[in-house]
Amino acid sequence: MKQLGDFETNTDILVKKEYCKKLYSGFMQAQALANIGHWELDLVEDTLYWSDEVYRIFGFEPQEFDATYEAFLDHIHPEDREMVNDAYVKSLHEKRGYHIEHRIVRKDGSVGFVEERCEHEFGSDGKPKRSIGTVHDITEKKLAENELFLASTLFKKMNDGVMITDTAQRIIIVNAAFSKMSGYEPEEIIGKTPNIMSSGWHDKNFYQELWKSINADGQWSGEVIDRRKDGELYTAQLNIIAIYNNKDELTNYISIVNDISEKKQKETLIHNLAYFDSLTELPNRVLFQERVSRKIPSLKRSGKKMALLFIDMDNFKNINDTFGHFTGDRFLIEVAKVIKNLLREQDTLARLGGDEFATVIEDIDSLVDVASIAQKIIDIFAKPLKIEDKEFYTGASVGISIYPDDARSYEELVKAADTAMYQVKEAGKNGYKFYTQTMNEKVTQRMHIENDLRCAIEKDELFLEYQPKVNIVTKSVYGMEALVRWNHTTKGVIRPDEFIPISEETGQILLLGLWVAKRAIYDTKMLHDEGKRVIVSINVSSKQLNDASFVDDICAITDEIGLERDFIELEITETHIMKNVDKALQILNELHKRGFLLSIDDFGTGYSSLNYLKKLPTKTIKIDRSFVLDIDKNPHDRSIVAAIIAMANSLGKDVIAEGSETREHVEALRLLECSKVQGYYFSKPLKIEQFKEFIADFKYDAI
Ligand code: C2E
Ligand code: CA
Ligand code: CA
Repeated sequence: MKQLGDFETNTDILVKKEYCKKLYSGFMQAQALANIGHWELDLVEDTLYWSDEVYRIFGFEPQEFDATYEAFLDHIHPEDREMVNDAYVKSLHEKRGYHIEHRIVRKDGSVGFVEERCEHEFGSDGKPKRSIGTVHDITEKKLAENELFLASTLFKKMNDGVMITDTAQRIIIVNAAFSKMSGYEPEEIIGKTPNIMSSGWHDKNFYQELWKSINADGQWSGEVIDRRKDGELYTAQLNIIAIYNNKDELTNYISIVNDISEKKQKETLIHNLAYFDSLTELPNRVLFQERVSRKIPSLKRSGKKMALLFIDMDNFKNINDTFGHFTGDRFLIEVAKVIKNLLREQDTLARLGGDEFATVIEDIDSLVDVASIAQKIIDIFAKPLKIEDKEFYTGASVGISIYPDDARSYEELVKAADTAMYQVKEAGKNGYKFYTQTMNEKVTQRMHIENDLRCAIEKDELFLEYQPKVNIVTKSVYGMEALVRWNHTTKGVIRPDEFIPISEETGQILLLGLWVAKRAIYDTKMLHDEGKRVIVSINVSSKQLNDASFVDDICAITDEIGLERDFIELEITETHIMKNVDKALQILNELHKRGFLLSIDDFGTGYSSLNYLKKLPTKTIKIDRSFVLDIDKNPHDRSIVAAIIAMANSLGKDVIAEGSETREHVEALRLLECSKVQGYYFSKPLKIEQFKEFIADFKYDAI
């Protein structure tokens, strides 16, 4: 193969030139691709040559002007100029090449970075002949390096903990802040998974949701509770970001962690200061107001009642004055403790200030319940409070207001309860009072009834009356309803409406109900034995129905007395059934299975759905007396009764109309084809002896 120096002829020279040109342009292209230019300084001729790429690096068109060493110095960043010049001069002097990096200022004023290398040629006399150098544009590399430097400085110095894992969640790197927070040095934790920091505080579900969010949105942020190396738990604000490369492949997860335990503690402290009484640790007035006010809208919706009890300690001032504040404080702490023990977990007891406490009782069934809680509070102070070795005789005055009867806002409720409390103080302290006088009377009366009822059965004060049930088609007395009465020692005969609801609230109905059933079934059995085979109807309240042993108890009674069950009808009111249809259905089915007859009492006052009526095993529907009252005068009532009868017929059930007081009532019912009637028109409820006479004498001449 020919060498460059082998070319001799003209053609050869041309070819050589052509070859050199090609070689040169290839060389230039290579320079452009590599961002490397070269220059030559002829020190003998004092000429400078820049390759095209050098011009481009400086931001010029190739060969835009003749290159000079001054032009070169001009485009060096002013701060680097001296250093570059020195390097050149020094290297000439020391007769060896140099290699430096420096900044340049391009034609458009922008700053770039170059790497320069230079070598010199010397003559035999030792004088420099030529300098040859390369200029490499390293701006991009420099900027990237700079960015990396900044990022790594940030990573090292930032206060947030950073942990980076691979896709298998193995930890690759953590920063100093992370080590400080977690207590783990990098070498202890790298290669492991973040699980080693898990506190066990969060359940599986929590982590499932977390990963779901990362997979869907590429990130998750929230609070977690982690465990430090020394075992201590801490709350952290955690940010997890999934990292993807430019091919959209998942490469890493970055977690940024902030220890917010202290912030949390401060928040709790501030919350406690604002909402709790520091002495007794009970909610303070602010929190109490907030809680009570928050309850009001839901009470409005549900129609339920709530009681607010305002409790003021009697003669606290004395204790404070005599024994000093320290003892006074101990006294209040003790008071808070004993009252709190008495309440249910969900009831809020608050200290409103001084020796004033307050509580609310939700979901109250009756005023009696509220009164008995107030009484219990008062009763605890009947005994002296023991603090250290001293005994303190005190008492409590309790004022009670009821939402919504007395007031509908927090402020008014407190005001009303406070007023009631003052009345207690005026009446001699140590007691409770409701805000409304009628409530006070009602409660006292109820409490008396409750007390007296307790021994009514033992004292044999209860008795039954029976109201005949007449079939106006067959013109016969086919049954009777047992109605309980109470012959009170001082008050005389009390109607069931006055004591049945109370006995239901107190639970006394269970015993009372069984007494009624026993007596009614016994009386009926006597009638049967005399050949008067009537059906007896017994009223059963929801409390009895919900009593687990009711079915067995009533079965045992019937068995003992020996009356056939298909002569015993149990009347259950429509509202009771509809309150909990499924439960009622289950019990009614059981009673039906055991052979009892069933009847829906006071029908029309509740909201039966046809759907349930169909399912109920009740044989009879008893139309409420309110529809019968005006049946002869009011077409609207008449059409309701007609509708009930039509519906009952279609369901294959019997109908009876109660409260039929007049001839007109009975006539109207007959026209509507209601064959069974009960009411004053035929008879008031009668004692069993009178009932016997009634059927003996019964002659149907009504219509
Ligand atoms: P109820 O079951 O609807 O009983 C019918 C009530 O209407 C009885 O009142 C009865 O005396 C009255 N009454 C009868 N005919 C007429 C009439 O023509 N006109 C008017 N205006 N009223 C009439 P009583 O005896 O005062 O009973 C009231 C309620 O007490 C009963 O209503 C029933 O719900 C309940 N009750 C009575 N005895 C018992 C019992 O032994 N157990 C249970 N759980 N509740 C009972
Ligand atoms: Ca009844
Ligand atoms: Ca009724």
